[in-house]
Amino acid sequence: WAKAEGRGRWAVYDPERSAADIARSALAAGLPAALDRGEFVVHYQPIVSLLDGSMIAVEALVRWAHPELGLVGPDRFIGLAEETGLIVRLGEWVLRQACRDARAWHREFPGAKLVVSVNLAARQADDPAIVDTVASALSRTGLPAELLQLELTESAVMGTAGEPLRSLYRLADLGVRLAIDDFGTGYSNLVYLRRLPIHCLKLAGPFVEGIRGAGDDPPPDHRDERIVDALVRLAHALELSVTAEAVETGEQAERLRALRCDTGQGRWFGPPAPADQITARLRGETTE
Ligand code: C2E
Ligand code: MG
Ligand code: MG
Ligand code: MG
Repeated sequence: WAKAEGRGRWAVYDPERSAADIARSALAAGLPAALDRGEFVVHYQPIVSLLDGSMIAVEALVRWAHPELGLVGPDRFIGLAEETGLIVRLGEWVLRQACRDARAWHREFPGAKLVVSVNLAARQADDPAIVDTVASALSRTGLPAELLQLELTESAVMGTAGEPLRSLYRLADLGVRLAIDDFGTGYSNLVYLRRLPIHCLKLAGPFVEGIRGAGDDPPPDHRDERIVDALVRLAHALELSVTAEAVETGEQAERLRALRCDTGQGRWFGPPAPADQITARLRGETTE
């Protein structure tokens, strides 16, 4: 028998369990206390207009400032938080923090109309209480609804019942923007896409990876380029805007602009960074 960290829960000792599994459950066991101790931080990554280079939004990306492991990325704990259900509380905390920061930016730089884009896990989106959670985050922080975007994956949109979530209509009625994250990598149900109140498609990294300039090495992958071209046309035909994720080079940004993508996000435009770095960037952009 082995006692799981902290909680007084007991797990059966299994010699087949790998060290990685054990590390994983230790990390999971530490999540609730970490939230109570305030060890999570939200970083923000610029989402930039491909037309004029201005920052029009930022995506909120959570990190865990772990006392021993340092800054731990969400890929290592969001899945665990979803499994344990903690994602509901953690997600609400991220939403509040993001709305507070966005409200402060809006106060200092009202002309920037900077949108904050917050990821919603399937489990959060599937809970009808999400509408009240979002409404109260907006009213408590005073952030105008149109400055909040919520990102859902294709599978989250479809919900556990296999039908598009009713909550999406109620969220859209609040006035927030809805985006489909990692579009094209999940279960893209185009039938529902035409009826849902979606505002933006975020094209997943793998498609953007193949987009390069003609002289680049490796050369562009024309199939990726045709997929992006087709998805942008589809999005625009449905009056949705398109954000390309994982833009890593200037050539990619240029090519994506030629393909009529509206906005880009990725290392080329700036990595995820603490809120004060976004403030500094807004200061630079608005005094130019
Ligand atoms: P995502 O929503 O698709 O976020 C984009 C990811 O791409 C981020 O990873 C970002 O750091 C990364 N990225 C930024 N620039 C580049 C680039 O130039 N190239 C490439 N290849 N990637 C780039 P990150 O921060 O590790 O987050 C991973 C995922 O964790 C996110 O993917 C999102 O699904 C999830 N996540 C992050 N924060 C939250 C949250 O607060 N709630 C929920 N439910 N999920 C979150
Ligand atoms: Mg996202
Ligand atoms: Mg994404
Ligand atoms: Mg993702």
